[in-house]
Amino acid sequence: MTFLIVFLFIMGLAWGSFLNVVILRTAKSKSFVNGRSECPKCKHQLAWFDNIPLLSYFLLGKKCRYCKASISIIYPVVELLTGVFFVWWFLIGFGFFKLVGSPWNVLQPIFWLVIGLNFIVIFVGDLLYMTIPFGLNMALLGLVTLYRVALVVTNNMRFEDFLVAVLSGVFLALFFTFTNRLTNKFRGVDGFGWGDIYLVPSIGILLGWPKILVSIVFSFVFGSIIGILLVVLGKKKKTDYIPFGPFLILGAVFGLLYGSRIWEWYLSLLV
Ligand SMILES: [Zn+2]
Repeated sequence: MTFLIVFLFIMGLAWGSFLNVVILRTAKSKSFVNGRSECPKCKHQLAWFDNIPLLSYFLLGKKCRYCKASISIIYPVVELLTGVFFVWWFLIGFGFFKLVGSPWNVLQPIFWLVIGLNFIVIFVGDLLYMTIPFGLNMALLGLVTLYRVALVVTNNMRFEDFLVAVLSGVFLALFFTFTNRLTNKFRGVDGFGWGDIYLVPSIGILLGWPKILVSIVFSFVFGSIIGILLVVLGKKKKTDYIPFGPFLILGAVFGLLYGSRIWEWYLSLLV
């Protein structure tokens, strides 16, 4: 058991290292399949011992071996986050998986692992580069739609629930587009980026009703709190653009984990 946890943690660190490459290269519209890792500053190719997840950052004294440019703290943070996510997925996440029949007992955990990795890329990428690559959004949309359709076809999800999930995704995309046009017209800024608009249908299909409602409400709550804090602390001006993708991801994770419970609590307040 301990061995397995350590193994998964190391696997997660390695995946985190790969995600760093994906985040950097998709933001810069480069292929992440070809080419060796290089220092983003001096472009010197990195040897394997400069590229050990988590360790190299500290062994190198947070600096590139060749040009001494400082290495962003984001790299080890993404690696650690992915490592912790793998362990969480194994220890706690498995409690959420309910489909026991073959092949779903295998496909379902793998699906959510991939979704988690995708979420990390979108979260960090949007935070750093204020963009969610179109290809990444479409890959996510394709994956969640395929997964839900497969569940419906195999009678593991009701068609009505799927339809409501799709409709809530479409509604959100329209709402975000409308808000975007409105703020653009009256304030000259995009309230939401196109990356956000392409992301919300996936979140709608992924969460379904009523979790999607909890998720979006909390995205706005998290976003407002952090946005106000950044302005009050003088880190951002009122007119500065703050990426909303990270808050959509936070809200989605929150909705997935606690959405049902919060919805039931909310309903109990009404009666
Ligand atoms: Zn360098």
